[in-house]
Amino acid sequence: MKDLQMNNKTQKSNQPIIEIHDMHKWYGDFHVLSNINLQVQPQEKIVICGPSGSGKSTLIRCINRLEEHQRGQIIVNGIELSNDIKNIEKVRAEVGMVFQHFNLFPHLSIIDNLTLGPIWVRKTPKKEAEEMAMMYLEKVQIAEQAKKFPGQLSGGQQQRVAIARSLCMNPQVMLFDEPTSALDPEMIKEVLDVMIDLAGEGMTMLVVTHEMGFAKSVADRVMFMDDGEIVEQNSPDVFFDNPQHERTKLFLSQIL
Ligand code: ADP
Ligand code: MG
Repeated sequence: MKDLQMNNKTQKSNQPIIEIHDMHKWYGDFHVLSNINLQVQPQEKIVICGPSGSGKSTLIRCINRLEEHQRGQIIVNGIELSNDIKNIEKVRAEVGMVFQHFNLFPHLSIIDNLTLGPIWVRKTPKKEAEEMAMMYLEKVQIAEQAKKFPGQLSGGQQQRVAIARSLCMNPQVMLFDEPTSALDPEMIKEVLDVMIDLAGEGMTMLVVTHEMGFAKSVADRVMFMDDGEIVEQNSPDVFFDNPQHERTKLFLSQIL
C-alpha cells in the first residue's frame, strides 16, 4: 500500500500541467484550430508566436475554457475540460491569465483588484488577502500605488498589477496573451522584467508574444502557429537559427 502511494505521488509530480490531444475548434463553420497537440511540463516556459489571426489567443483561451473546443481533449492539472462547471472552476483556480488590455476592474482600487479572487474564490480572510496582495505589489514594484484606481496608472503599471493579481491566486500555470502589445515602447521592459523574474522562480508559463528577445532568453520551447495549426516547435536556438518550414521562415523574416 505504501509503495503504491509513493508510485502515485511520483507519477503525479511528472504529470504534465497541460495536455492537449488532437484538439479542434470551430467558430460556427470556421475551423479555427486543427489537430492541436501540446504538453506542458511543470516549470516549462513556452512562447507561442505566429501571424495575426492564426489562432494563438483562441488556443490559450481554450486552456481555461474562455472558449470551448469541439473535438479532442484538454487536460489541465489532471482535470479534463468539459461542460462540467465544477471542473471549469477547478481549472480556472489554477490557471492565471494576463491579457493584452490588462482587464482590471476600473471601479476597484488596485488592492481591491488583487484581493477579490482570494477573498471570494479561495475564501481567504480579508486581512490575510491584503497582506498577500501587498507582498505581490511589492514584488512587481508598485506597492505605493495600492490605493489608486487602474485609470490613474500607466499601461506598464496596470499590466504589472494584472500579473500581481494573477499571482495572488497562487496559480500552477500562467497564460499571457500578448502582455506587452498594448504598451508604449518604454513600458515594455518593466513588464518583461517581471515576467523574466517569474520564469526564474520556476513558474510554468505559456506566453503569446512577438518579443523575440524574451523568447530567446526565457523560452524552453518556441511554437509557431499559422492557420490554426502548430506548424513547428523547437528550442529557441534551433527555432531562430534553423527554422524548418517555409511559413516559419517567412514569418521570422518579417518580424526579426
Ligand atoms: P490570433 O490571436 O493569433 O491573432 P485569434 O485566436 O484571435 O488569432 O483568431 C483566430 C481566428 O478566429 C481569426 O480569423 C479571428 O478573426 C477568428 N475569431 C476570433 N474570435 C472569434 C469569434 N469569437 N467568433 C468568430 N471568429 C473569431
Ligand atoms: Mg491574439
